[in-house]
Amino acid sequence: MGKRAASRGGLSGSGWHIDQACPQCGAPVTLDETDRLLACPFCRTRLYLAPDGPFRYYIPPQTPAAGAELLYVPYWRLRGSFFSVTASEVSHRFVDRNLLAADLADLPSSLGLRPQVLRLRYVSPETEGRFIPPDVAADRAPPAPGAVPPGVFFRGYIGEQLSLIHAPLHLRGGTLFDAVLGKPVAGAAAATVERLLNAPPGVRSRVRFIPTLCPGCGWDMEGERDSLVLLCRNCDTAWACPADSFTPVEFSVLAPPPAAGGIASYLPFWRMKPRVEGLEVETYADLIRLANLPKVVTPAHAATPLRFWSPAFKVNPALYSRWALQMTLFQPDGDGSDRLPAAPLYPVTLPLREAVEGIAVTLARLVTGKHRHTPKLAGIRITGEQARLEYHPFPMRGNELVHAALGTALDRTALAYGMRL
Ligand SMILES: [Zn+2]
Ligand SMILES: [Zn+2]
Repeated sequence: MGKRAASRGGLSGSGWHIDQACPQCGAPVTLDETDRLLACPFCRTRLYLAPDGPFRYYIPPQTPAAGAELLYVPYWRLRGSFFSVTASEVSHRFVDRNLLAADLADLPSSLGLRPQVLRLRYVSPETEGRFIPPDVAADRAPPAPGAVPPGVFFRGYIGEQLSLIHAPLHLRGGTLFDAVLGKPVAGAAAATVERLLNAPPGVRSRVRFIPTLCPGCGWDMEGERDSLVLLCRNCDTAWACPADSFTPVEFSVLAPPPAAGGIASYLPFWRMKPRVEGLEVETYADLIRLANLPKVVTPAHAATPLRFWSPAFKVNPALYSRWALQMTLFQPDGDGSDRLPAAPLYPVTLPLREAVEGIAVTLARLVTGKHRHTPKLAGIRITGEQARLEYHPFPMRGNELVHAALGTALDRTALAYGMRL
Protein backbone atom coordinates (compact mmCIF):
# COMPACT_ATOMS: atom_id res chain seq x y z
CA MET A 1 0.00 0.00 0.00
CA GLY A 2 2.93 2.32 0.92
CA LYS A 3 4.00 4.64 -1.86
CA ARG A 4 0.74 4.69 -3.76
CA ALA A 5 -1.24 5.54 -0.65
CA ALA A 6 1.19 8.36 0.10
CA SER A 7 0.94 9.71 -3.44
CA ARG A 8 -2.79 10.24 -2.98
CA GLY A 9 -2.36 12.44 0.10
CA GLY A 10 -4.10 12.06 3.41
CA LEU A 11 -7.66 12.56 2.21
CA SER A 12 -9.73 9.46 2.13
CA GLY A 13 -13.22 8.23 2.65
CA SER A 14 -16.42 9.80 3.82
CA GLY A 15 -15.61 10.31 7.48
CA TRP A 16 -17.49 7.24 8.63
CA HIS A 17 -15.88 4.94 11.14
CA ILE A 18 -16.65 1.25 11.11
CA ASP A 19 -15.33 -0.86 13.96
CA GLN A 20 -14.34 -4.38 13.01
CA ALA A 21 -12.25 -6.94 14.84
CA CYS A 22 -9.46 -8.39 12.68
CA PRO A 23 -10.80 -11.82 11.64
CA GLN A 24 -7.30 -13.24 12.05
CA CYS A 25 -6.10 -11.93 15.44
CA GLY A 26 -9.11 -10.13 16.89
CA ALA A 27 -7.38 -6.75 17.17
CA PRO A 28 -9.65 -3.71 16.73
CA VAL A 29 -9.48 -2.16 13.26
CA THR A 30 -11.28 0.98 12.07
CA LEU A 31 -12.50 1.08 8.49
CA ASP A 32 -14.04 3.76 6.30
CA GLU A 33 -17.20 3.41 4.23
CA THR A 34 -15.22 3.29 0.98
CA ASP A 35 -12.69 0.73 2.23
CA ARG A 36 -12.48 -2.59 0.46
CA LEU A 37 -9.34 -3.82 2.17
CA LEU A 38 -8.82 -4.57 5.82
CA ALA A 39 -5.12 -4.25 6.65
CA CYS A 40 -4.53 -5.29 10.24
CA PRO A 41 -1.72 -3.18 11.76
CA PHE A 42 -1.12 -5.86 14.40
CA CYS A 43 -0.85 -9.19 12.58
CA ARG A 44 -0.31 -7.68 9.09
CA THR A 45 -3.16 -9.73 7.63
CA ARG A 46 -4.72 -8.19 4.53
CA LEU A 47 -8.26 -9.15 3.62
CA TYR A 48 -10.60 -8.05 0.88
CA LEU A 49 -14.14 -7.12 1.95
CA ALA A 50 -16.82 -8.85 -0.10
CA PRO A 51 -20.41 -8.10 0.97
CA ASP A 52 -23.24 -10.29 -0.33
CA GLY A 53 -25.28 -7.35 -1.62
CA PRO A 54 -25.00 -3.77 -0.44
CA PHE A 55 -22.83 -3.21 2.63
CA ARG A 56 -25.02 -3.42 5.73
CA TYR A 57 -24.09 -1.54 8.88
CA TYR A 58 -25.71 -1.12 12.23
CA ILE A 59 -25.41 1.58 14.84
CA PRO A 60 -24.79 -0.19 18.17
CA PRO A 61 -27.34 0.83 20.84
CA GLN A 62 -25.98 3.57 23.11
CA THR A 63 -28.47 3.12 25.95
CA PRO A 64 -28.93 0.20 28.39
CA ALA A 65 -31.05 -2.60 26.98
CA ALA A 66 -32.38 -3.87 30.35
CA GLY A 67 -35.87 -5.29 29.94
CA ALA A 68 -36.17 -4.01 26.37
CA GLU A 69 -36.56 -5.65 23.01
CA LEU A 70 -33.87 -4.55 20.52
CA LEU A 71 -35.16 -3.65 17.07
CA TYR A 72 -33.41 -2.27 14.01
CA VAL A 73 -34.95 0.00 11.39
CA PRO A 74 -33.29 0.12 7.94
CA TYR A 75 -32.17 3.28 6.14
CA TRP A 76 -30.77 3.42 2.63
CA ARG A 77 -27.59 5.36 2.29
CA LEU A 78 -26.95 6.67 -1.20
CA ARG A 79 -23.96 8.70 -2.25
CA GLY A 80 -22.95 9.41 -5.79
CA SER A 81 -23.32 11.26 -9.06
CA PHE A 82 -26.83 11.53 -10.43
CA PHE A 83 -27.24 12.08 -14.17
CA SER A 84 -30.29 13.06 -16.14
CA VAL A 85 -30.15 12.99 -19.92
CA THR A 86 -32.73 14.57 -22.22
CA ALA A 87 -32.70 15.32 -25.92
CA SER A 88 -31.28 18.76 -25.26
CA GLU A 89 -29.02 18.40 -22.24
CA VAL A 90 -27.07 16.24 -19.83
CA SER A 91 -27.41 17.44 -16.26
CA HIS A 92 -25.78 16.04 -13.18
CA ARG A 93 -25.41 16.64 -9.49
CA PHE A 94 -23.81 15.06 -6.49
CA VAL A 95 -26.16 13.37 -4.02
CA ASP A 96 -25.46 12.30 -0.47
CA ARG A 97 -28.47 11.23 1.54
CA ASN A 98 -30.02 8.61 3.75
CA LEU A 99 -33.65 7.65 3.72
CA LEU A 100 -35.97 5.32 5.63
CA ALA A 101 -35.97 1.98 3.75
CA ALA A 102 -39.18 0.62 5.26
CA ASP A 103 -42.71 1.77 4.71
CA LEU A 104 -43.18 3.07 8.26
CA ALA A 105 -44.41 6.64 7.92
CA ASP A 106 -44.40 7.33 11.67
CA LEU A 107 -40.65 6.78 12.09
CA PRO A 108 -38.02 9.44 11.27
CA SER A 109 -37.57 9.64 7.50
CA SER A 110 -33.81 10.17 7.71
CA LEU A 111 -30.90 9.53 10.07
CA GLY A 112 -29.45 12.96 9.38
CA LEU A 113 -25.78 13.19 10.24
CA ARG A 114 -25.78 10.32 12.72
CA PRO A 115 -23.73 7.87 10.65
CA GLN A 116 -20.93 10.44 10.49
CA VAL A 117 -20.92 10.99 14.24
CA LEU A 118 -21.39 7.46 15.55
CA ARG A 119 -19.25 4.41 15.03
CA LEU A 120 -20.83 1.71 12.90
CA ARG A 121 -20.36 -2.04 12.59
CA TYR A 122 -21.01 -4.54 9.83
CA VAL A 123 -24.18 -6.58 10.31
CA SER A 124 -23.64 -10.33 10.49
CA PRO A 125 -25.85 -13.31 11.41
CA GLU A 126 -24.41 -13.01 14.94
CA THR A 127 -25.77 -9.47 15.41
CA GLU A 128 -28.54 -9.65 18.00
CA GLY A 129 -31.88 -7.92 17.56
CA ARG A 130 -34.86 -7.97 15.26
CA PHE A 131 -34.25 -6.47 11.81
CA ILE A 132 -37.05 -4.81 9.90
CA PRO A 133 -36.52 -5.89 6.28
CA PRO A 134 -36.17 -3.02 3.76
CA ASP A 135 -39.32 -2.89 1.66
CA VAL A 136 -38.81 0.44 -0.09
CA ALA A 137 -36.59 0.30 -3.18
CA ALA A 138 -33.44 2.38 -2.95
CA ASP A 139 -34.24 4.03 -6.25
CA ARG A 140 -37.29 5.59 -4.66
CA ALA A 141 -34.83 8.14 -3.41
CA PRO A 142 -34.31 10.41 -6.42
CA PRO A 143 -32.84 13.83 -5.66
CA ALA A 144 -35.83 15.59 -7.21
CA PRO A 145 -39.09 13.87 -6.28
CA GLY A 146 -41.73 13.60 -8.94
CA ALA A 147 -42.34 11.74 -12.15
CA VAL A 148 -39.63 11.32 -14.75
CA PRO A 149 -40.23 14.14 -17.24
CA PRO A 150 -41.09 13.18 -20.81
CA GLY A 151 -38.09 13.05 -23.13
CA VAL A 152 -35.73 11.82 -20.42
CA PHE A 153 -33.91 8.79 -21.70
CA PHE A 154 -31.45 8.18 -18.92
CA ARG A 155 -31.89 9.04 -15.30
CA GLY A 156 -29.78 7.41 -12.67
CA TYR A 157 -26.66 7.18 -10.61
CA ILE A 158 -23.22 6.33 -11.92
CA GLY A 159 -20.56 5.10 -9.54
CA GLU A 160 -22.78 5.42 -6.53
CA GLN A 161 -22.21 3.88 -3.15
CA LEU A 162 -25.37 2.23 -1.85
CA SER A 163 -25.59 0.71 1.61
CA LEU A 164 -28.06 -0.05 4.37
CA ILE A 165 -27.75 1.36 7.86
CA HIS A 166 -29.75 -0.26 10.62
CA ALA A 167 -30.67 2.15 13.42
CA PRO A 168 -31.50 0.73 16.88
CA LEU A 169 -34.75 1.09 18.81
CA HIS A 170 -35.72 -0.28 22.19
CA LEU A 171 -39.25 -1.39 22.93
CA ARG A 172 -40.02 -1.14 26.62
CA GLY A 173 -43.52 -1.45 28.11
CA GLY A 174 -45.18 -0.82 24.75
CA THR A 175 -43.16 2.37 24.13
CA LEU A 176 -40.49 2.72 21.43
CA PHE A 177 -37.27 4.43 22.42
CA ASP A 178 -34.51 5.71 20.21
CA ALA A 179 -31.63 3.51 21.44
CA VAL A 180 -29.05 6.18 20.61
CA LEU A 181 -30.61 9.15 22.40
CA GLY A 182 -32.73 7.19 24.90
CA LYS A 183 -35.78 9.31 24.09
CA PRO A 184 -39.22 7.94 23.18
CA VAL A 185 -40.02 7.91 19.46
CA ALA A 186 -42.87 10.39 19.18
CA GLY A 187 -46.00 9.34 17.34
CA ALA A 188 -45.21 5.68 16.68
CA ALA A 189 -48.52 3.95 16.00
CA ALA A 190 -49.50 0.66 17.66
CA ALA A 191 -49.53 -0.95 14.21
CA THR A 192 -45.89 0.05 13.70
CA VAL A 193 -44.90 -1.41 17.06
CA GLU A 194 -46.71 -4.62 16.14
CA ARG A 195 -44.90 -4.81 12.84
CA LEU A 196 -41.51 -4.22 14.44
CA LEU A 197 -42.16 -7.02 16.90
CA ASN A 198 -42.93 -9.39 14.06
CA ALA A 199 -39.63 -8.65 12.32
CA PRO A 200 -37.31 -11.64 11.97
CA PRO A 201 -34.49 -12.01 14.49
CA GLY A 202 -31.09 -11.46 12.91
CA VAL A 203 -30.07 -11.31 9.24
CA ARG A 204 -28.30 -13.82 7.03
CA SER A 205 -26.17 -11.20 5.30
CA ARG A 206 -22.50 -10.86 6.14
CA VAL A 207 -19.29 -9.37 4.81
CA ARG A 208 -16.79 -12.02 3.72
CA PHE A 209 -13.12 -11.45 4.36
CA ILE A 210 -11.03 -12.91 1.55
CA PRO A 211 -7.23 -13.22 1.78
CA THR A 212 -5.57 -10.99 -0.83
CA LEU A 213 -3.45 -13.80 -2.27
CA CYS A 214 -3.10 -13.99 -6.05
CA PRO A 215 -5.24 -16.90 -7.30
CA GLY A 216 -2.66 -17.37 -10.06
CA CYS A 217 0.58 -17.64 -8.07
CA GLY A 218 -0.16 -17.17 -4.37
CA TRP A 219 1.73 -13.85 -4.12
CA ASP A 220 0.28 -11.10 -1.91
CA MET A 221 -1.59 -8.76 -4.22
CA GLU A 222 -1.28 -5.00 -4.24
CA GLY A 223 -4.16 -2.60 -3.73
CA GLU A 224 -5.13 0.49 -1.83
CA ARG A 225 -7.80 0.49 0.81
CA ASP A 226 -10.54 1.46 -1.66
CA SER A 227 -9.33 -0.58 -4.68
CA LEU A 228 -11.85 -2.71 -6.52
CA VAL A 229 -9.12 -4.36 -8.60
CA LEU A 230 -6.07 -5.93 -6.99
CA LEU A 231 -2.80 -6.39 -8.85
CA CYS A 232 -0.23 -9.16 -8.69
CA ARG A 233 3.22 -7.83 -9.52
CA ASN A 234 4.64 -11.34 -9.45
CA CYS A 235 2.65 -12.76 -12.36
CA ASP A 236 1.35 -9.44 -13.87
CA THR A 237 -2.34 -10.10 -13.37
CA ALA A 238 -5.34 -8.05 -12.21
CA TRP A 239 -8.25 -9.40 -10.17
CA ALA A 240 -11.70 -8.21 -9.17
CA CYS A 241 -14.04 -9.78 -6.67
CA PRO A 242 -17.59 -9.38 -7.98
CA ALA A 243 -18.99 -12.06 -5.66
CA ASP A 244 -17.03 -14.18 -3.19
CA SER A 245 -13.86 -15.03 -5.10
CA PHE A 246 -11.29 -13.25 -7.26
CA THR A 247 -11.77 -13.42 -11.02
CA PRO A 248 -9.23 -12.21 -13.63
CA VAL A 249 -9.58 -8.76 -15.19
CA GLU A 250 -8.19 -8.29 -18.69
CA PHE A 251 -5.98 -5.22 -18.72
CA SER A 252 -3.57 -3.34 -20.91
CA VAL A 253 -0.96 -0.72 -20.05
CA LEU A 254 -0.65 1.91 -22.78
CA ALA A 255 2.81 3.13 -23.68
CA PRO A 256 3.55 6.86 -23.43
CA PRO A 257 4.63 8.70 -26.60
CA PRO A 258 8.44 8.94 -26.85
CA ALA A 259 8.58 12.62 -25.75
CA ALA A 260 6.19 12.26 -22.81
CA GLY A 261 8.86 12.38 -20.09
CA GLY A 262 8.58 10.65 -16.73
CA ILE A 263 5.21 9.08 -15.93
CA ALA A 264 3.81 10.29 -12.61
CA SER A 265 0.92 7.88 -12.59
CA TYR A 266 -1.10 5.47 -14.68
CA LEU A 267 -4.83 6.14 -14.47
CA PRO A 268 -7.33 3.34 -15.09
CA PHE A 269 -10.11 3.55 -17.70
CA TRP A 270 -12.66 0.97 -18.81
CA ARG A 271 -12.67 0.38 -22.55
CA MET A 272 -16.02 -1.06 -23.63
CA LYS A 273 -17.53 -2.41 -26.80
CA PRO A 274 -21.25 -2.32 -26.02
CA ARG A 275 -24.26 -3.63 -27.87
CA VAL A 276 -26.62 -0.75 -28.60
CA GLU A 277 -30.12 -1.62 -29.71
CA GLY A 278 -32.15 1.10 -31.38
CA LEU A 279 -29.33 3.25 -32.74
CA GLU A 280 -26.63 2.43 -35.26
CA VAL A 281 -23.35 2.89 -33.41
CA GLU A 282 -21.26 -0.07 -34.45
CA THR A 283 -18.23 1.57 -36.01
CA TYR A 284 -16.10 4.67 -35.78
CA ALA A 285 -17.76 5.84 -39.02
CA ASP A 286 -21.10 5.81 -37.16
CA LEU A 287 -19.57 8.00 -34.48
CA ILE A 288 -18.33 10.51 -37.08
CA ARG A 289 -21.85 10.75 -38.50
CA LEU A 290 -23.69 10.84 -35.16
CA ALA A 291 -21.45 13.44 -33.58
CA ASN A 292 -20.97 15.47 -36.78
CA LEU A 293 -17.20 15.23 -36.45
CA PRO A 294 -15.26 17.27 -39.02
CA LYS A 295 -13.87 14.17 -40.69
CA VAL A 296 -14.35 12.40 -43.97
CA VAL A 297 -15.58 8.85 -43.42
CA THR A 298 -13.11 6.36 -44.88
CA PRO A 299 -13.43 2.58 -45.34
CA ALA A 300 -10.98 2.22 -42.44
CA HIS A 301 -13.38 4.17 -40.19
CA ALA A 302 -16.23 1.93 -41.30
CA ALA A 303 -14.18 -1.14 -40.37
CA THR A 304 -13.14 0.13 -36.91
CA PRO A 305 -15.44 -1.03 -34.12
CA LEU A 306 -16.69 1.84 -31.95
CA ARG A 307 -15.60 1.65 -28.34
CA PHE A 308 -16.54 3.70 -25.35
CA TRP A 309 -14.30 4.76 -22.51
CA SER A 310 -15.11 5.59 -18.92
CA PRO A 311 -12.87 6.61 -16.04
CA ALA A 312 -12.42 3.59 -13.76
CA PHE A 313 -11.95 5.97 -10.84
CA LYS A 314 -14.32 8.34 -9.11
CA VAL A 315 -14.30 12.04 -9.89
CA ASN A 316 -17.05 14.65 -9.70
CA PRO A 317 -19.89 14.19 -12.22
CA ALA A 318 -18.78 17.01 -14.55
CA LEU A 319 -15.26 15.60 -14.87
CA TYR A 320 -16.52 12.04 -15.14
CA SER A 321 -18.68 12.85 -18.12
CA ARG A 322 -16.04 15.09 -19.73
CA TRP A 323 -13.34 12.40 -19.53
CA ALA A 324 -15.67 9.67 -20.77
CA LEU A 325 -16.58 11.88 -23.74
CA GLN A 326 -13.11 13.03 -24.72
CA MET A 327 -11.60 9.55 -24.46
CA THR A 328 -14.44 8.15 -26.57
CA LEU A 329 -13.93 10.87 -29.19
CA PHE A 330 -10.19 10.22 -29.15
CA GLN A 331 -10.55 6.40 -29.44
CA PRO A 332 -7.05 5.68 -28.11
CA ASP A 333 -5.61 2.72 -29.95
CA GLY A 334 -2.69 0.42 -29.52
CA ASP A 335 -2.62 -2.87 -27.75
CA GLY A 336 -0.34 -1.76 -24.96
CA SER A 337 1.49 -4.10 -22.68
CA ASP A 338 0.29 -6.83 -20.39
CA ARG A 339 3.12 -6.06 -17.94
CA LEU A 340 2.49 -3.83 -14.94
CA PRO A 341 4.77 -0.76 -15.01
CA ALA A 342 6.95 0.33 -12.11
CA ALA A 343 5.24 3.76 -11.94
CA PRO A 344 2.26 4.08 -9.55
CA LEU A 345 -1.06 2.73 -10.78
CA TYR A 346 -4.05 4.71 -9.58
CA PRO A 347 -6.64 2.39 -7.98
CA VAL A 348 -9.81 1.30 -9.74
CA THR A 349 -12.70 2.67 -7.65
CA LEU A 350 -15.49 2.64 -10.26
CA PRO A 351 -16.65 -0.86 -11.27
CA LEU A 352 -17.21 -1.90 -14.89
CA ARG A 353 -20.96 -2.30 -14.26
CA GLU A 354 -21.19 1.44 -13.50
CA ALA A 355 -19.02 2.35 -16.46
CA VAL A 356 -21.44 0.49 -18.76
CA GLU A 357 -24.25 2.68 -17.39
CA GLY A 358 -22.13 5.71 -18.19
CA ILE A 359 -22.20 4.83 -21.91
CA ALA A 360 -25.73 6.26 -22.09
CA VAL A 361 -24.46 9.62 -20.88
CA THR A 362 -21.53 9.65 -23.31
CA LEU A 363 -23.73 8.65 -26.20
CA ALA A 364 -26.20 11.40 -25.36
CA ARG A 365 -23.43 13.98 -25.18
CA LEU A 366 -22.23 12.86 -28.60
CA VAL A 367 -25.60 13.28 -30.28
CA THR A 368 -27.14 16.05 -28.15
CA GLY A 369 -28.26 18.97 -30.25
CA LYS A 370 -28.02 16.97 -33.45
CA HIS A 371 -31.74 16.78 -33.90
CA ARG A 372 -31.69 14.21 -36.61
CA HIS A 373 -30.67 11.59 -34.06
CA THR A 374 -31.95 12.66 -30.67
CA PRO A 375 -35.45 11.20 -31.01
CA LYS A 376 -33.83 7.78 -31.48
CA LEU A 377 -32.17 8.01 -28.09
CA ALA A 378 -35.45 7.46 -26.31
CA GLY A 379 -35.77 3.78 -27.21
CA ILE A 380 -32.18 2.54 -27.05
CA ARG A 381 -30.89 -0.29 -24.91
CA ILE A 382 -27.22 -0.62 -24.01
CA THR A 383 -25.57 -3.78 -22.77
CA GLY A 384 -21.90 -4.45 -22.10
CA GLU A 385 -20.34 -6.93 -24.50
CA GLN A 386 -16.56 -6.75 -24.28
CA ALA A 387 -14.44 -4.74 -21.92
CA ARG A 388 -10.96 -4.36 -20.64
CA LEU A 389 -9.18 -2.19 -18.15
CA GLU A 390 -6.68 0.23 -19.65
CA TYR A 391 -3.97 2.05 -17.76
CA HIS A 392 -3.12 5.34 -19.45
CA PRO A 393 0.17 7.14 -18.76
CA PHE A 394 -0.04 10.61 -17.18
CA PRO A 395 3.11 12.72 -16.80
CA MET A 396 3.03 15.65 -14.34
CA ARG A 397 2.84 19.29 -15.40
CA GLY A 398 2.73 21.64 -12.42
CA ASN A 399 0.05 20.29 -10.12
CA GLU A 400 -1.74 18.61 -12.98
CA LEU A 401 -1.61 15.15 -14.41
CA VAL A 402 -1.65 15.30 -18.20
CA HIS A 403 -2.84 12.50 -20.45
CA ALA A 404 0.31 11.66 -22.41
CA ALA A 405 -1.40 11.24 -25.79
CA LEU A 406 -4.40 13.60 -25.48
CA GLY A 407 -2.55 16.41 -23.73
CA THR A 408 -5.60 17.01 -21.52
CA ALA A 409 -4.96 17.86 -17.88
CA LEU A 410 -6.59 16.41 -14.79
CA ASP A 411 -6.16 18.41 -11.62
CA ARG A 412 -4.85 16.32 -8.76
CA THR A 413 -7.27 17.94 -6.31
CA ALA A 414 -10.13 16.54 -8.44
CA LEU A 415 -8.76 13.05 -7.82
CA ALA A 416 -8.44 13.76 -4.10
CA TYR A 417 -12.07 14.93 -4.11
CA GLY A 418 -13.09 11.77 -5.95
CA MET A 419 -11.59 9.65 -3.20
CA ARG A 420 -14.28 10.87 -0.87
CA LEU A 421 -17.15 9.98 -3.19
ZN1 LIG B 1 -4.91 -8.97 12.89
ZN1 LIG C 1 0.23 -13.75 -9.18
